[in-house]
Amino acid sequence: MPTLEKMYSMGHEEVVFFQDRSCGLKAIVAIHDTTLGPALGGTRMWPYASEEEALIDVLRLSKGMTYKAAVSGLNLGGGKAVIIGDPKKDKSEALFRAFGRLIESLNGRYITAEAVNTSVDDIEYIFAETNFVTGVAQQYGGSGNPAPYTALGVFRGIEASVTKAFGNRSLKGKTVAIQGVGSVGFELAKLLSEAGASLIYTDINEKGIQKMKESFPHAKFVGTNEIFSSACDIYAPCALGASINDETIPMLKCKIVAGAANNQLKEDRHGQILKEKGIIYAPDYLINAGGLMNVSIEFEGWADSKSRRMIDTIYDKTLEVFRISDEQNIPVNKAADVMAEKRIESIRNIKNAYLGKINHRMPGQKNRRF
Ligand code: NAD
Repeated sequence: MPTLEKMYSMGHEEVVFFQDRSCGLKAIVAIHDTTLGPALGGTRMWPYASEEEALIDVLRLSKGMTYKAAVSGLNLGGGKAVIIGDPKKDKSEALFRAFGRLIESLNGRYITAEAVNTSVDDIEYIFAETNFVTGVAQQYGGSGNPAPYTALGVFRGIEASVTKAFGNRSLKGKTVAIQGVGSVGFELAKLLSEAGASLIYTDINEKGIQKMKESFPHAKFVGTNEIFSSACDIYAPCALGASINDETIPMLKCKIVAGAANNQLKEDRHGQILKEKGIIYAPDYLINAGGLMNVSIEFEGWADSKSRRMIDTIYDKTLEVFRISDEQNIPVNKAADVMAEKRIESIRNIKNAYLGKINHRMPGQKNRRF
């Protein structure tokens, strides 16, 4: 499908292709929707096999950011950037500074941050060229690594799910199976352990497994397939997307699915299947929004306490989505979409009404604000 048709079908406002031969930069920025505010979303660096693959990824991810910001109550739109390249070989100061100049040229319609394979160090180079960047190191007035804040949001989402399933939010005595104990999964393990939960975990990275063994000697390590059939109260996907699918759902013994990974449901219909099986699903883009909430306050002056207060609201927001799902008898993932779309639509209508007044002025009449 041609790019403009793809943009039309997914509702994107703008897609920018950018290259700089001098440093080998090839990047795409996708701005999905700026109704609620400037588009904020991280930059993913990935050795995409083709331009088509990179484009599809950035279109899908930027749309997801629109929904995440909207459902989280943030005054932000959805955007995302991808750099086509191998993060192990192709990173350089020149590349990230050239990328920073691209961001600057968009004049604030898109604001970037860290994402898969981009770090606070890379952000520092981008920050040398533009202010439209978040996730800047704390010594430069930014908020630094978002993982602990993402984990806190996921923890609040798990508490809300536990409230729905068991009548109160306590995790004492509950068993949580974590798939992927990387940046967010490990921070989540800390919060769960402090709250009195027992842990089961899996990973494919020896370093991560070792760190877990040292920090949580009582946690049980299982194989990557065994995690799905582990007897637990909560299954927390914190690795890659699509771990809830036709093969894994029949294996699940949990009452709740709630984790950090983006796009946990392989297809939307898997939300309905979870509902039919009586498994509570906490929508991924709502409960993993803690990192986004954290960076969103960088421009007004980041503070840890302010960030944590915002992230705590994920508990009530998750319960609200459960309520909509029950009332309308729709799967929870659909209920989150409804909540996000309703908010965007209401603000778009106000904006259209305002633009309508300007557009209907008489010839020769000056624009005026009201
Ligand atoms: P990470 O790369 O630090 O951790 C992912 C972990 O999953 C790694 O340890 C990896 O070895 C492990 N893993 C990969 N495949 C696996 C498999 N098949 N089985 C078991 N383990 C496997 O990434 P992260 O920053 O912790 O993010 C985790 C997830 O949360 C991602 O899906 C990410 O998109 C999402 N997320 C992260 C943030 C954030 O602030 N970092 C924010 C929102 C969403």
